[in-house]
Amino acid sequence: SNNHNTITTMTSPPTLSSSAITVPGIATQTLSNLVEYATSFSAAHGLQVELRDSSSSSPTNNNIDNNTHNRGYITAPISLLPQAYPSLQFRMATLLAAPFNILVDRISNDATFLQETLSDVRNLDEYTGKLLDLYEEIYCGERRGIEWGRHARSADKLGIQRSDYMLHKDTTAAGGDDVGEVATAAGSAGEHYSLKQVELNTIASSFAGLASTVAKMHSFLTQRLEGEIGQFLNENERAVMGTEEDVDGSKTKNAILGASSSSLDDDCIIGIAERGVPESPAMSRIPSAIAVAYDRYCSRFDDTDSSTTTTSAQPIVLFVVQPKETNTVDQRLLEFALWNNHKIPVVRMSLAEIYERVTLDEDSGRLTFEDGSGSSKREVAVVYFRAGYAPTDYPSGYNTNDGTGVEWLARERLERGIATKCPCLGYHLAGTKKVQQELARPGVVEHFFPENDGDDNAAAARLIRTAFAGLYSLGADANDEDMRAVREVLLHGGEGRYVLKPQREGGGYNFYGKQLADKLRSNCTISNGVDEDTPVIQLSPALSEFILMERLFPPQQRAILLRNGRVEGSGMTISELGCFGTIVVSGEGDVIHNEYAGFLLRTKFSGVDEGGVASGFATLSSPYLC
Ligand code: ADP
Ligand code: MG
Ligand code: MG
Repeated sequence: SNNHNTITTMTSPPTLSSSAITVPGIATQTLSNLVEYATSFSAAHGLQVELRDSSSSSPTNNNIDNNTHNRGYITAPISLLPQAYPSLQFRMATLLAAPFNILVDRISNDATFLQETLSDVRNLDEYTGKLLDLYEEIYCGERRGIEWGRHARSADKLGIQRSDYMLHKDTTAAGGDDVGEVATAAGSAGEHYSLKQVELNTIASSFAGLASTVAKMHSFLTQRLEGEIGQFLNENERAVMGTEEDVDGSKTKNAILGASSSSLDDDCIIGIAERGVPESPAMSRIPSAIAVAYDRYCSRFDDTDSSTTTTSAQPIVLFVVQPKETNTVDQRLLEFALWNNHKIPVVRMSLAEIYERVTLDEDSGRLTFEDGSGSSKREVAVVYFRAGYAPTDYPSGYNTNDGTGVEWLARERLERGIATKCPCLGYHLAGTKKVQQELARPGVVEHFFPENDGDDNAAAARLIRTAFAGLYSLGADANDEDMRAVREVLLHGGEGRYVLKPQREGGGYNFYGKQLADKLRSNCTISNGVDEDTPVIQLSPALSEFILMERLFPPQQRAILLRNGRVEGSGMTISELGCFGTIVVSGEGDVIHNEYAGFLLRTKFSGVDEGGVASGFATLSSPYLC
């Protein structure tokens, strides 16, 4: 998912040397050629993550850019070859990017929705509570007075979202009535996989850079060694492409078209990439979106009297980063593209450094800092958070009255400035799991896309809804349907069909299987009802910071996974597709820019529950469109 601190191999099978591994469909010599190519390609193109020697820097050393000693880079965790992926569903994911961007923006403006949706969570999860407190103070004028957040309220907004999906076998007919028929037709013909959203990341959505490089590598390998890996790719293709009868994909196409919207015409669906690994536009589109935000910020002050201008040097984009980040190459690729394509300079700082160095001018809202190169002050035009999404990014705590809580104070200062935030607090909160669950309730997405505002709205709402899996509340608002899911887990052994999720980002926090059942059981009371056969289940309030989600079962296919540049193993895997979307919205609420901005595929062994590349569960891969 998002960013992560450490690279581990905790859940992986034992590391084997490549010679010990045989892969059906690939000759031994081909396998070692592939590994050789992959590691050299990685070195040649910076498909790498940083190796941090934890003993080399003190834990309090936040001066990340000075920590140049004992630095090494290793091959990023990658899948040796791309995974087969149905091109229609891939196309669908790219089409969903823009509507989801709009949804995030509209949620961010609806304080009542955020407050009501997160009302239970805020009392149990201090981190989400703090985000919501700050949002209320800055954007709603609560507690600190309306003036306190005035600069933030007039600032532009920048979103770099990543919506993550798994293919899931459709068992029920999604959408309207006539759709049912089509979907069933596809279903009865065998299998039809539809795209279901795992989650929507609105902060620190990572791997745009490395994933683009992986796609380049896979494109090279599949062409260069075409004959030698053809059988391998073909077998995987059969696993994801549904039935033999659906040769031209028309049934799948109809099911998607029917379930989505009339605005998705045939051309739109058919005009998709040809077979093979597509190119990810992420490293041109994401910098472009940042440049749109940056240019708007700069032109905003063009007409101000130069005598009031506090700075002379060119404004910068501030990357807010973790002191011990290992996924630095991914971030640097973005930094270098910003310079190469747009001549926009980047400065990296941790939240603790920002607290020390960046000041907010209360009158103008400008954020500036001494850049150490002389007398001039540098101005921050855009704040891009690659840190701050986890409680551990705020190590000095929450109490801002006694000198602790410097990271929260830094976050607050940045938010209150007139610079464009990526994300602002509203966008960040719109990406919480609880919001995702609430959106799945009947009428909620539709509330954000009111039908009487035009056909586009209705189409966007329908399109978004096709991507929702089953999502259930465990809070005070749990309804009959939510309780049916709970009963299934507690009384009918259904724990394998759900995932239990807290309000966390970065991978590694979810509950599956027995752990899920134990967690639910220890947080509820089951008593006999009037009728002894139907026990009454009472959920403890402690569960309301979690959501329960239908577990997705993507098609399995073979992959060869590399970690630390060595073959970790080969076996059956599942994949998660991520699609980037970028949006720029003016302080007045006008959408300036909104588009799909590239993809990411992550692959992990089927037996591994969690995802996350940097958290050591998954590897970076790319789709081989079929
Ligand atoms: P995070 O924000 O921590 O990345 P996610 O919702 O993405 O949270 O969950 C982490 C990982 O858990 C995902 O990458 C995926 O591998 C797995 N996962 C999450 N939800 C589901 C689900 N509904 N079905 C199957 N696997 C899931
Ligand atoms: Mg995730
Ligand atoms: Mg996430």
